[in-house]
Order: sequence, then C-alpha cells, then structure tokens
Amino acid sequence: MYQKGRAWIELNMGNLKHNIEEFRRLLPFDCALMPAVKANAYGHGAALVAKALQEQGIQAFCVASVAEGVQLRLSGIKGEILVLGYTHPAEFNDLVAFNLIQTVVDGDYAKQLQNDGRRFTVHVGIDTGMHRLGVRWDHIEQIVEIFQMPNLKVTGLFSHLCVSDGNSVQERTYTMEQIHHFEYVTEELHRQGFQNFKCHLQGSYGILNYSQCCFDYARAGIALYGIYSAKNDRTKASADLKPVLSLKTRVESVRMLYHGEGAGYGLTYNAQGNRIIAALSIGYADGVPRELSNCGYVLCNGRMAPVIGRICMDQMLVDVTDIPQVKAGDEAVLIGKSGDLQIQAEEMAQWAGTISNEIVSRLGERLERVAE
Ligand SMILES: *Cc1c(COP(=O)(O)O)cnc(C)c1O
Repeated sequence: MYQKGRAWIELNMGNLKHNIEEFRRLLPFDCALMPAVKANAYGHGAALVAKALQEQGIQAFCVASVAEGVQLRLSGIKGEILVLGYTHPAEFNDLVAFNLIQTVVDGDYAKQLQNDGRRFTVHVGIDTGMHRLGVRWDHIEQIVEIFQMPNLKVTGLFSHLCVSDGNSVQERTYTMEQIHHFEYVTEELHRQGFQNFKCHLQGSYGILNYSQCCFDYARAGIALYGIYSAKNDRTKASADLKPVLSLKTRVESVRMLYHGEGAGYGLTYNAQGNRIIAALSIGYADGVPRELSNCGYVLCNGRMAPVIGRICMDQMLVDVTDIPQVKAGDEAVLIGKSGDLQIQAEEMAQWAGTISNEIVSRLGERLERVAE
C-alpha cells in the first residue's frame, strides 16, 4: 500500500539514534533511558518508535495508560513498561496479564491495589512539589507502609519536576528543592533497609538542565524526539538534538482567486490582487491546529506558502502565487525540510500559541507513519 498519498509522517530513525546517543553522553554512565512513548510516542507512532528504541538497547519505557502498555506488548516490546497514570480496577487484569508496572498515585490507591487480592508490580509516585500525583515526600511513614504491603512488589520510586524547563532563580531553587526532597525519601528508605528499587526523577528538561543528577533511569520524552517544548530552548540547550518527525501532505488542486474574492469557510480571507491558491489534503482532524487559520506557513518546492482562510477538517488552503509551477500531486511540508528551508514543530507551536508537545501528540490516526 502506498503510504504517501494524502498526508503522512516521515520518521528519521538516524536522528532518533543520534538523540539517544546525545542523552547517553549527557547522563551519568549508569543512568539508563526510560523513554516516554505515551500518546502514540508523541504522535510519532508508538510501535515504530518503541521497536527502534529497543534495537538501540533501551529496556524500559513509560506510557500513560494500560491500553498503551498493552499495545506495546502486542507489538513485541520486552522489558519494563511503567504506566504513569491512574488505572481503573476494571483494568487491573491487563496489568498482570501483560506484565505492566503500575504507578502508585497516592496512599488510597496503594490500599486499593493491596486489597484487590492479586499481586502487582509497582513504582511508587512521590509528590515533591508538583502536587499532581504521588504520596507527599514528607509522609515517610506512609511511603514505608506501601513498601511493606504484601501484595505490592515495589520495584521503583519516582517523582516529577514541574519547573525544570525554567532558568530563573526561583525555578532553579524550586527544582533543587524537589531534587532534595526526592533524595531525602530514597535515603530514608535505604536507611530503613529497603534496597531493591530503582529511582527516577528527570524528564527531558530535567536531563538537559540538571544532567548532573544521578538516578537509575531518566524518562526522556519530547527532547528524545529532537523537539524542544518552546522555540527559544533550542538555542540555549546543552545538547545537539535533531528532529525525528516530518509532517507532509499533497497539493490537491490549484486555482486562481481573483481580486476581492474570499476563500474557505466564513470567507475569512480576502484576496488583494489576483492570487494563485492551492488546496492541501490535511486538516485539523489530522492534528493541524485550527489556530493556524490565516496564520503560519507551509513549505512547497523549497519556498514558503502562507496559510489562507480557515483550516478545515480534512483540508487547508495556502497562497502559492510566488512559487512557480505548483501543481496537484506536489508535496507540501508542514513540519520538516523542503529545499533549503525548514519549519520546526516549535515554530508551528508558536504560530498556534501552544507548545510543540501538544502539536505532535495530537497528530492524528489517519496519518501514515513511514520510518526512513
Ligand atoms: C510525560 C512525562 C515524562 C516525559 O516528559 P518530557 O518533558 O516530554 O520529557 C516524564 N515523566 C512523566 C511523569 C511524564 O508524565
């Protein structure tokens, strides 16, 4: 089946390998990567990405849900798979059947797992200051109780940093406090005789900005895909990361729009002078943000084509007046390179008023994923 007919994602697996090597260079030698492949590997395609990571020697992964964990197992992924979020008791069966590690999201949840009757492998979440999930870091007794629950096999302890992407004094101080709180919990557990558990704290920005930390795993997400959350972060970064994903589509039809005519739903664009416009076969159902309506660009034959009118569900319009000989069937690039030009996910995110994490993780099911 031809995969590049309508709209598709190309994955540069060489760049993924390069990014893994960059992270391994940054991190202490005994800290292993535990990539976040949740949300379909940030839109890249979970099975393709996890398999490529496994081939690079990665042996631990994290996902957001049981269903994502099951999908990885069914695609032949071995090793540890940690479910970072809440799992409903009705899905506990899959935790056991597919050998997934569940996060203890708080003290009550630990009791619920303990009282279920089956035996679960878990990592205990610690709230060191984000106040989203985990047992509070200063509730040591409660943490110890969880470690002693007979139906829980605790193989890990983790927390999450919430301002590690920031470089202000306040943000750096807060992150250092979170790190110290986490270290306090691990030391206290060691002191009380608990030894056989892995510790992990850093996501992408924790790795980039606090690479001196020494834990067993680092949960790299967005940056492993060669993408920074915001555009400015790339210039400041300590690593040379290369984007894995390109987002491409086809020109469906080219036509003349005469001076004064509108185009698209709501006729929100109005031609000043005669314009040549092209319809592309990709839209917001594929994950192109509707915020790009009359804003942002795509690349066509190595030139920039501004978006005109509203993004539709399956299509969008661009102005190709200044690009010679655009015709139906030509490629258009929304993220990636064309000729000497490049649009990064960070730029699209900026045009849409969001972060690149949201842009890529919302890329739709309908897009073909092609590994190259
Ligand atoms: C998503 C997630 C990560 C990865 O975050 P990035 O910023 O994308 O690297 C790590 N840990 C937890 C708990 C997460 O939810």
